[in-house]
Amino acid sequence: TGLVVAMDGPSGSGKSSVSRGVARALGLRYLDTGAMYRAMTWWMLQQGVDLADPAAIAARCGEPRIDSGTDPDGPAIHVDGVDVAGSIREADVTGAVSAVAAVPEVRTRLVARQREIIGAGDIVVEGRDIGTIVCPGATVKVYLTASAEARARRRNAELAGSTVEAQQADMARRDNLDSTRKTDPLSMADGAVELDTTALSLEEVIAEVLSLVKE
Ligand code: C5P
Repeated sequence: TGLVVAMDGPSGSGKSSVSRGVARALGLRYLDTGAMYRAMTWWMLQQGVDLADPAAIAARCGEPRIDSGTDPDGPAIHVDGVDVAGSIREADVTGAVSAVAAVPEVRTRLVARQREIIGAGDIVVEGRDIGTIVCPGATVKVYLTASAEARARRRNAELAGSTVEAQQADMARRDNLDSTRKTDPLSMADGAVELDTTALSLEEVIAEVLSLVKE
């Protein structure tokens, strides 16, 4: 593999904005692995799969074809040829994605797809398990954190029609599920550099990551 920047951390830590900014600055591709878990969840909801039943999720997860683009200026995501970029941030998907992502068979399939994409050339990859599982040999591993309040505020600025308190509660629920699931929970990888973004601007965080890449 070539140059891989692995960007992990909880929701709202700034992973997407930072990853895209770093990819743009260096002329690299960009992969949003969360979008792939969201796309899988969108498909399961469309199909009426019982998301309280991990065996049902496991039995069906090989059916949809999930294609992820790598342009940091407009990351495309398709399920069986259908553009789902506009649907995967909806509340129904956000509410269900952690349960789908906890199913080992789902992770096996999506990690395989992610490794194919990473293998095609230099890239910035964001997710929860990039430095630990998907690409332990990444050139640079970054673990982004921020205070719960800062994370909820950022998410709230992106999503209309919700309060900061509601965002904070929903994010805490999702982070708890993501950090305590049995298969590949969110955790800091060996060799990762932890960056607390609470008091930093987006530009400052991007500059920090760029300096790590240039080291
Ligand atoms: O990053 P984003 O919030 O879009 O991710 C949505 C969900 O997908 C996360 O809450 C987590 O459950 C799952 N996910 C994962 N592993 C990744 C990326 C995302 O389990 N590498």
